[in-house]
Amino acid sequence: MAEDQNFDVVIIGGGPGGYNAAVRAGQLGLKTAIVEMRGVLGGTCLNVGCMPSKALLHASELFEAASSEFASIGIEVPAPKLNLVQMMKAKQDSVTALTKGVEFLMKKNKVTYFVGRGTIAGQGRVTVTGNDGATQTLVTKNIVIATGSEPTPLPGVDVDQKQIVDSTGALSLPSVPKSLVVVGAGIIGLELGSVWRRLGAQVTVVEFLDRITPGMDTEVATAFQKALVKQGVSFKLGTKVTKAATGAKGVELTLEPAAGGAQEKVTADVVLVAIGRRPFTKGLGLETVGVTTDQRGFIPTNHFKTAAPGVWAIGDVITGPMLAHKAEEDAVACIELIAGKAGHVDYNLVPSVVYTFPEVAWVGQTEDQLKAAGVQYKAGKFPFTANSRAKINHETEGFVKFLADAKTDKVLGVHMMGPQVGEMVGEVCVLMAFGGASEDLARTCHPHPTRSEAVRQAAMGVEGWTMQA
Ligand SMILES: Cc1cc2nc3c(=O)[nH]c(=O)nc-3n(C[C@H](O)[C@H](O)[C@H](O)COP(=O)(O)OP(=O)(O)OC[C@H]3O[C@@H](n4cnc5c(N)ncnc54)[C@H](O)[C@@H]3O)c2cc1C
Repeated sequence: MAEDQNFDVVIIGGGPGGYNAAVRAGQLGLKTAIVEMRGVLGGTCLNVGCMPSKALLHASELFEAASSEFASIGIEVPAPKLNLVQMMKAKQDSVTALTKGVEFLMKKNKVTYFVGRGTIAGQGRVTVTGNDGATQTLVTKNIVIATGSEPTPLPGVDVDQKQIVDSTGALSLPSVPKSLVVVGAGIIGLELGSVWRRLGAQVTVVEFLDRITPGMDTEVATAFQKALVKQGVSFKLGTKVTKAATGAKGVELTLEPAAGGAQEKVTADVVLVAIGRRPFTKGLGLETVGVTTDQRGFIPTNHFKTAAPGVWAIGDVITGPMLAHKAEEDAVACIELIAGKAGHVDYNLVPSVVYTFPEVAWVGQTEDQLKAAGVQYKAGKFPFTANSRAKINHETEGFVKFLADAKTDKVLGVHMMGPQVGEMVGEVCVLMAFGGASEDLARTCHPHPTRSEAVRQAAMGVEGWTMQA
């Protein structure tokens, strides 16, 4: 065993929670170590999550545009041919460049990077077991757990990463399946389903609930489902998968109505199980400091403090939206608290984005939530059919919806479906972070012609003076 090393902070996990915590700790002059067992930094997000999925969404969107849209705007090219090997290589090259960038950030901020599994070995001690089995112990004033999450398994449907895959397998299929069944109509399933549909698969989404994308404003979710159906995705809602049998002819799935009833069989070349993610704490040694997880496996925290003194937790391993930018917010707030500053995260202002086409983005309360809470609100809505830039670009599907307090006009939530709305939700986050009113945005000059003018027009709609529709 190597000699003990002393730190102010040891972070276990090198994803967006862990690496951002490391950067901030380094900036604040804390002696910091990060422990990651994957062999590369970046966590789920960079390696098997946000970034590879966006690489494939981008590439497949261009592939589809070249197949079906180019001719209509006067660009005549032969029918595009898919080179999946090259598409996957381009994805991997981008991922590698990004993970190297994170490694550079560790050096820049004087963070010591240990490759291996980190195990808490009592208060203030973390044992690192390298891939070669060698161990060393780090002594530290603070431990930050940022061990993230893993795909939730579905009983009766065993992932083999060939015929039955999880999101990681779906990011690296060796060929385009003729048919793909996606189990789960959440963001990850719909994004990856979109990728493979654009590349030629017949995609069916099976969902237990009677709606897609729980958490999304119902009006938007309904419009979004319609858009996906128009693109050729089929949905079986209110349906559960009870069994999967793999064979030479593909996967035979047994389906049942969620409420019970007659069984139905469906076959597919590939099945993607995307029913959610669960916190990952395997082999972490939580018991050595008396920390227990809740029923769903999350580490309970109060302002990132666990039940054990000097042990903190952030990101997907604690409750809240399982998103990279939420993990990043947690990271900054947690480290600032460790450094004696005032760290704080407003979870109402964590935006969500679905990177399909059209995109869906939102922040704050949904109309369903406001109704359920009995909040009096006013709504302003603007369709992309009336936005000049969207019209010119033939991307008119969708709308922007503003929800503001009926008395004070304070913005409570904004919901958008349309082209690149993921890039546009940020301005609403800033508005809401300052407690802004819809009128603040409605009276702010926006550049013309941009899609962001739709956001302004929707804000104008709250007071009934939308000008362009
Ligand atoms: C397909 C897919 C697409 C996604 N797209 C988006 C998106 O577009 N936008 C978005 O915001 N979010 C997206 N997410 C979610 C996002 O990836 C996660 O919310 C984010 O990565 C969570 O960050 P984290 O740091 O908490 O955990 P993780 O990124 O999961 O990182 C945890 C790291 O800890 C390591 N680890 C675990 N235990 C130990 C241990 N004992 N010792 C050492 N290392 C350990 C793991 O190897 C891992 O690298 C996506 C996820 C998936 C699967």
